Amino acid sequence: MRARWQRLRCKGLLGVWAVFLLMAAMLFAERSGIRTRLERPGRSYLTRETTLTAAQVMEELPATCLLVCNSQDEASLDAAGQFPQILTDMKVGYAQVDLAEEPLPALEGYHTVVVTLSDLSVLGENVLALADWVEQGGRALFASALQKTTCSMLLEQKLGILSSDYGYSRVDTVRPSGDFMIGGGKTYAVTDGFDSAWTVELSDRAEVFAVTDSDRATPLVWRTACGEGTFVVVNLGFCEKSTRGFYAAAYSLLEPVCVWPVLDGATFYLDDFPSPVPGGDGVYLRRDYGTTVSEFYTNIWWPDMLALAERYGFAYTGAVIENYGDDTLSEPEPQLDVSRFQYFGNMLLRAGGEIGYHGYNHQPLCTGTTDYRGELPYNTWPDEAAMAAAMKELTAFVGGQFPEGEHSVYVPPSNVLSAEGRRLLGQQFPGIRTIASTYFVDGLAYWQEFGVAEDGIVEQPRFTSGAVLDDYMKMTALSELNMHFVSNHFMHPDDLLDEDRGAALGWEELKRRLTGYMDWLYTAAPCIRRLTGSELSGAVQRFSQLTVSAETENDAVTLRLGHFVDEASLLVRLNEGRPAEVQGGELIPLTGTLYLLRAEQPAVTITLEND
Ligand SMILES: [Zn+2]
Repeated sequence: MRARWQRLRCKGLLGVWAVFLLMAAMLFAERSGIRTRLERPGRSYLTRETTLTAAQVMEELPATCLLVCNSQDEASLDAAGQFPQILTDMKVGYAQVDLAEEPLPALEGYHTVVVTLSDLSVLGENVLALADWVEQGGRALFASALQKTTCSMLLEQKLGILSSDYGYSRVDTVRPSGDFMIGGGKTYAVTDGFDSAWTVELSDRAEVFAVTDSDRATPLVWRTACGEGTFVVVNLGFCEKSTRGFYAAAYSLLEPVCVWPVLDGATFYLDDFPSPVPGGDGVYLRRDYGTTVSEFYTNIWWPDMLALAERYGFAYTGAVIENYGDDTLSEPEPQLDVSRFQYFGNMLLRAGGEIGYHGYNHQPLCTGTTDYRGELPYNTWPDEAAMAAAMKELTAFVGGQFPEGEHSVYVPPSNVLSAEGRRLLGQQFPGIRTIASTYFVDGLAYWQEFGVAEDGIVEQPRFTSGAVLDDYMKMTALSELNMHFVSNHFMHPDDLLDEDRGAALGWEELKRRLTGYMDWLYTAAPCIRRLTGSELSGAVQRFSQLTVSAETENDAVTLRLGHFVDEASLLVRLNEGRPAEVQGGELIPLTGTLYLLRAEQPAVTITLEND
């Protein structure tokens, strides 16, 4: 009996010890900056070896779309510059024809045709073949503002045009309908708008999806049924990286169902954070707060930024700068003053964030072969070995300061990265899995598309920045929600020290604008996942290799997802019927006919009820 009692008491004590140890471990985890959060499968990296690039999977897809271009037509060149990427990202297999080189091929066998021409004359009599093909069930998108010619006049009525002019109308604003686009039902300003849209009046047969917000609204996107088929016209008159989402959304109006893989993530980077106290003129901080730069960041800016993240439910991804020296010649030296790194870094981690790499110093990874042409105040590195040594010091420093958590994202200083620097990261730093630079082609910038590079590194462009958020950024943000269902924003603490980035407006005004942007984003897309940098990369990998085919039968759409791993997000446009039941995933309404599908299985069935 006694022995049994002892055993029982012993067991009881063991239990107490176990609880105590668990509590100690949790406290330790809390103190050392690890947020105890649920495992989030589907948000971590896939291995480099198993991830396919978009180019690899596109080879598997049959060409169901014909992209019609004319290399002698300037507007066609603009659209033809964007559409290969739009179709690749939507995983639509396509063939491309340049009418300056060859005639229009037979259209039988294609499901869709995208015509990028502004002058249809080059089609000649084939314009009637195209119209016949649509009448028999074909789906054609006109992507450029058309010129009024004898050829376009043959089509006008079929396109739903009542009357047209030889002139063009000014497009200073775009107002997409709420049914059409995520973030629709609002007016967006066009930067450097011009007379870009064909002046037309539409008949009642045309369904209008976007107009200019002016006294005499010019139709910018519309759809017209024609026989068994459909025409969609985008009449914006400009097609560039910042407006791709309009074209993706317009393309999705063609067929009864359109489904494409997306990223489903919003990420917020703090570049140069943590870092030493930024240099720069604190004149506006003294004006508004009477503090030093250092005190301002600790007592005002950072608490405000944390409150913003908490309000919208996201966490920051910081990118460390170890020192602000410009020395590229001496041996790298470890940063000894670590108090700011510890203070800000651990708070960022405790709030669920992530820390990546920005630089040993703020000198981009470029050797003497790069000429900054006086545009950037940087020094180059003498050779590849010097860049590697600096990166080694940085990765060791970050690993030493923050031993727990993911350090896999590299943000190039000023978004500049040479081909040599890029190669170096892929070959010598296996811990770096992501490069987060910029979306836009600009000077020396390392610009990117969302995808997986051949060396397995995830290319993850950011496209909005700072706190000023001008019209161009708002347009891009709208476009990207509708193209990739993504927001990827970055900000520097020293935006508040730089007049070009809005310093004179003062932090209160900048904070108001930043909050306004977050309000817009999370109102337009309340369900979008809040992701850290590496989590967004996990989404990029899954998106990059995912293919999708849709089959409709007996009021049910069956989707088959190729290269599905564990989960996938897709945009689903249902032009006919409404969803009644979903098997294999969750379907979340976004706009009138657009849904977000979170697939849990490689086969998803959506049962439709017809209105
Ligand atoms: Zn920076």
